Amino acid sequence: MAVQIVWFCRDLRTTDHGPLAAAVASGLPCLYLYVYEPEQLQAEDFSTAHFEFLNRCLAELDDRLRQLGARLTLRHGRLPDVFEALHREYGIIEIHSHEETGNWLSYQRDRRVRAWARGAGVRLTEHACNGVVRRLSDRDAWSGIWKQRMRATLIPEPARVPQSPDIASLAPLTVQQAGLAPLSHPSQQTGGRTQGLAWLQSFLETRGLHYRSEMSSPLTAAESCSRISPYLAFGCLSVREAVQAGRETLWRLRTRQQQGESLDAAWFQSLASFESRLAWRCHFIQKLEDEPAIEFRNVNPAFDGLRENEFRPDLFHAWCESRTGYPMVDACMRFLQAGGWLNFRMRAMLMSFAAYHLWLHWRQPSLFLARLFLDYEPGIHYCQCQMQSGVTGINAIRIYSPARQAADQDPQGEFIRRWVPELDGVPDEWIAEPHRMSRLQQDLFGCRIGRDYPLPIVHHETAFRSAQARIFAARSTVLARQQSASVYQKHGSRRRPMNDPGR
Ligand SMILES: Cc1cc2nc3c(=O)[nH]c(=O)nc-3n(C[C@H](O)[C@H](O)[C@H](O)COP(=O)(O)OP(=O)(O)OC[C@H]3O[C@@H](n4cnc5c(N)ncnc54)[C@H](O)[C@@H]3O)c2cc1C
Repeated sequence: MAVQIVWFCRDLRTTDHGPLAAAVASGLPCLYLYVYEPEQLQAEDFSTAHFEFLNRCLAELDDRLRQLGARLTLRHGRLPDVFEALHREYGIIEIHSHEETGNWLSYQRDRRVRAWARGAGVRLTEHACNGVVRRLSDRDAWSGIWKQRMRATLIPEPARVPQSPDIASLAPLTVQQAGLAPLSHPSQQTGGRTQGLAWLQSFLETRGLHYRSEMSSPLTAAESCSRISPYLAFGCLSVREAVQAGRETLWRLRTRQQQGESLDAAWFQSLASFESRLAWRCHFIQKLEDEPAIEFRNVNPAFDGLRENEFRPDLFHAWCESRTGYPMVDACMRFLQAGGWLNFRMRAMLMSFAAYHLWLHWRQPSLFLARLFLDYEPGIHYCQCQMQSGVTGINAIRIYSPARQAADQDPQGEFIRRWVPELDGVPDEWIAEPHRMSRLQQDLFGCRIGRDYPLPIVHHETAFRSAQARIFAARSTVLARQQSASVYQKHGSRRRPMNDPGR
């Protein structure tokens, strides 16, 4: 019996799903397939938290498919070998999938699958996914395409889907079978579309009111940001449905306002910011789509060699283990390790501290963060890590001062004390820079620096000035300027040229 396959990857949903709709339209028996790929499970950017989230998404996808008259088939193996085995047994006519802009491993895998499909005479149809455009020839056209795609009607969930042939499915892999370490901290967010929709709905109904003004502080951001990022990363939600849900909310609020109701203006600002962040999401992923090597290489080669040979493992490990002696940095790292999420501003500060104060090349820090971020999305992640390290040449240089961020975003030291309890007795005045206390004060407040909490691993002013001088010198060379012009041509945002989204 010949079959078609809907191949699920990072699109674990049944609504707004082009490949599923195409399979339904053809009506042939269909296999709904997810393949656990050993090389992805063992990849440097993958973690047990991702795996747990993934399994929850798969369980819910299977439930949903069963309600529609089929089920999910799980396989474990390398691709295209899994397809080859299925083809020999059942004869695959067509594979429907989404275009994926993932890590280098998925890029190589997709090339192997395409080559195999061509050789085996199997039709492979890859559907466009969100606002990322494959084979984009002109960056100037990108924004228009994004708008058009976000306006298009959502693809409804099918009422029924063609049945699967009688093929045994593997049981979901366990953490051990996947070869992963046991989970050290349960993530705050669990996988699956139901959870994703609940986060989106509560954001649009209540939590998002002060999104714009509260997104930058770690005290308020966890509640006021949408928190839909892991659900977008695993494809439980589509970007288009998030954009359209935001627009619908806006439309309802405007209608209520026109009917005379007095509404908080903050809603309108927050919803506009939300939509622009969703556009930024696709904008960044587009860069990786156009240049997959961004995962490993500086987007601007003029910065090659700037940090590569100065990597200090001792500084790197202190940063990873929240032992920098900078309370805001350590608090953010601990918060992230505990829950798998951190707001944008604090992610930028963590990365900037690693890249400038510690002068670490972005690659190792970015992998460490990738494993911690439940919402790890290679296209956003590597571009942001490079931006915060100053190696794109087209974005403003921002070297965050941890003490300044503490003063602005956590003035009473509430966040710091929650996550760095060693500093519990330290008064507000010293909380961001406890090493500035005298020995007498340290004893008085019960925190001896160097014993109860580390001394700063680098001297802020010296590290800051040195990094500033080096990055601006590198940026001002003729080569850097020439390369920056071509980086801008290929990847730059046309809305705010030569700048970054900032917050
Ligand atoms: C060093 C660094 C690494 C990052 N790595 C990732 C990553 O791996 N995955 C990821 O999704 N985001 C990443 N971000 C961007 C941003 O921090 C997160 O998208 C955001 O914090 C997720 O929380 P949220 O869903 O509540 O976002 P909200 O503020 O509610 O925004 C809604 C959605 O817009 C998108 N978005 C928001 N901010 C940005 C941005 N600056 N750039 C691109 N898209 C954005 C996300 O999809 C997000 O879910 C990174 C930022 C930095 C500075």
